[in-house]
Amino acid sequence: MADVHFIDLADELLRRYPNLSIGREYNEHEKCYWQCQRAQGWRCTCSCQARNHAGGSWMDPWNVLAEDNSIIDRVTWTWMAVELKTPEAH
Ligand SMILES: [Zn+2]
Repeated sequence: MADVHFIDLADELLRRYPNLSIGREYNEHEKCYWQCQRAQGWRCTCSCQARNHAGGSWMDPWNVLAEDNSIIDRVTWTWMAVELKTPEAH
């Protein structure tokens, strides 16, 4: 999936389903630099997995239930099971 749609799609899915398992590709050898720590969004392939972006505020709506990492074809993926902190009134 194109990462530009990542947050929108995650939000939409979390409106329909109670939990969501999110897998993101990242590079565990890529150091987290100031560019990353100053970034506001969620786009990141570095080892911080975008947790340093805006202090991780893009994850604020979510409760993280579980986390795991896996390696598929020598690409490292990080997995998060999340739920919305408060159900949205739609
Ligand atoms: Zn980073």
